[in-house]
Amino acid sequence: MDSLNAFARVKLAALERSSLRRSLSETTRLEGPWVLRDGRRMLSFCCNDYLNLSTHPDVVAAALAATRQYGVGAGGSRLVTGNHPLYAALEARLARLKGTEDACVFGSGYLANAGIIPALAGRHDLLLVDELAHACIWTGAQLSSGSILSFRHNDVAHVAQLLAGARASHRHALILTDSVFSMDGDLAPLHALAALAEAHDCWLMTDDAHGIGVLGGGRGAVHEGERPAPVPLQMGTLSKAIGGYGGYLCASRPVIDLIRTRARTFIYATGLPPGTVAAAIAALDLIAAQPDYAALPVQKARLFTTLVGLPAAASPIVPVILGEAPAALAASQLLAEAGFLVSAIRPPTVPAGTSRLRFTFTAQHPDEAIARLAALVRTRILGRPA
Ligand SMILES: *Cc1c(COP(=O)(O)O)cnc(C)c1O
Repeated sequence: MDSLNAFARVKLAALERSSLRRSLSETTRLEGPWVLRDGRRMLSFCCNDYLNLSTHPDVVAAALAATRQYGVGAGGSRLVTGNHPLYAALEARLARLKGTEDACVFGSGYLANAGIIPALAGRHDLLLVDELAHACIWTGAQLSSGSILSFRHNDVAHVAQLLAGARASHRHALILTDSVFSMDGDLAPLHALAALAEAHDCWLMTDDAHGIGVLGGGRGAVHEGERPAPVPLQMGTLSKAIGGYGGYLCASRPVIDLIRTRARTFIYATGLPPGTVAAAIAALDLIAAQPDYAALPVQKARLFTTLVGLPAAASPIVPVILGEAPAALAASQLLAEAGFLVSAIRPPTVPAGTSRLRFTFTAQHPDEAIARLAALVRTRILGRPA
């Protein structure tokens, strides 16, 4: 026991010295983008609840009604007794939204990636992963026991070069990328990646955690632009713009049937609570009914980038990269004193030397508050003229 505690203490002390120790701060969500932290009402620019649906009355009412009708828990894995009737409705809506034959819902986005990737790729296969892909894509890739090659961020020529060298010696190949990068807010070149995948008999899987609900009229990053990118494996989460919890894969019927039979995080994990599934259904119905509302988070992010003088936002996520961890922590503190909650993002979430403030914008952020925030960032953090 002593060596265990000593190990933990030494590790923590080293993290503390490099400003990398993390701690939990109790935060209560109030209405819209407002939160309560340390007894203070603050405006949060670090929630992924882009459409503020987590507190929407219709979504909350749907969760309460389903909980009363079916109880608080699913009671088992979906393959045993946990597949309550709401699942079919949710999966049909997701497939329709994404334009695929079928969909499969998981307990979370993390569980989805940890289950889907090893169910599709194994020892003889090649996995090509964007270097900035989300941690759970890496988890899934590692669990597959395939050969993993990482490609330079959004560098299609690098993917082509890696495929030319390694594709022939592997049975199958899978390209894995976020469609909207969670810490940078930029979009993957989906059409170019899809064309390359096609040319090399390679499968393309995108993680649309930050695209669903806010890009492509609410349908996600694949539906940005004039025609949808042909992406056969569209994974995402119900925990961000959809406002609740859960993950999903949208794909063809045979692929979804295989995933339901083989993905370990689907088979050996309890189904989502009925209230959570009902909330997601209600949220997707609101998004389908109001595509203009879905466009608001990106519009708010663009207002901010214009006022600060940054490149135009492509998504609701805007990074301001400050370098070392202490600089990001100090900037976060400065904004907190002005009533804005913006967390500092440090390694290992982002590469060393790129610690940053990560701003996220939601449909209900008041423009006036965005203007005050932008002025502070511009003058006090970036040291630019007012
Ligand atoms: C948040 C996130 C996930 C994980 O989703 P959860 O539902 O929170 O587990 C996966 N991928 C990306 C890109 C994310 O940002």
